[in-house]
Amino acid sequence: MRYLALAVIASLLALALCFVFPAEKADVYVIANGAVSKGELEFASLVLEEEYGDWINVHLADQKFRDPESHDPNLRFHESFDTYQYKTESFFDIAPGYYHKFNADILIILTDKHIYPSEEFNYVFGQARMGEMRMAVLSTWYLKRTPDAMHVAEDSLFQQRLRKLVLHETGHTLGLFHHPNRECVMTYSASLPEFDKAGIKLCGQSKDTLNVTVPEFLCGKDCLIYTVAAFLQAFLLWSVLFFVFMFYTKRSKP
Ligand SMILES: [Zn+2]
Ligand SMILES: [Zn+2]
Repeated sequence: MRYLALAVIASLLALALCFVFPAEKADVYVIANGAVSKGELEFASLVLEEEYGDWINVHLADQKFRDPESHDPNLRFHESFDTYQYKTESFFDIAPGYYHKFNADILIILTDKHIYPSEEFNYVFGQARMGEMRMAVLSTWYLKRTPDAMHVAEDSLFQQRLRKLVLHETGHTLGLFHHPNRECVMTYSASLPEFDKAGIKLCGQSKDTLNVTVPEFLCGKDCLIYTVAAFLQAFLLWSVLFFVFMFYTKRSKP
């Protein structure tokens, strides 16, 4: 009986802690670069709110992200695409200024420029960066084209791709890794046709992961409140299991 009382007190305490210190949401800033339109930026933020609203607050930056320098040593000309490509790192180098200015938890940069992550890659749709400053750079360049990059893709297809890319890269910044489930937006795609077949929503398992990674990210690993709350929850669960077990073993005796 004393054990039950302890468990009840523990659960009430955990509840009180959650009430006094409600889980915060991450402040995500979406910023446009180059010729990305206001409509595209608003679409991206709507998509984020729709899918990640439980974990983040979305803000639209009221200014544009400045272009990497035209003499950037990482700027390269891609013969088969017949266009200049920017290295994602060039965006990440500029990003901290905006990150601090907005006091953002996560910065999402939307560019119309063709981008590449490192020398051995032809291109990338987007790239996320973890660590002290979480950010991602997303390119609409390829999304607006057919897989051979020769023709313009239909508007509805572009929107679906943009939705997937925004959710996928932001998912990384929130602590999600690639998911083998092809129905999940966190699935890995190596090409545009593959990307077009990938899911457009988060799967339940990835959502469960966010419930752990986002509070962890916001609070820091050594945050006392979450440690205590987690401990109390575990304590409560085991208490209930223990009592169910005791109840049935007592009843089954002659
Ligand atoms: Zn990915
Ligand atoms: Zn998933």
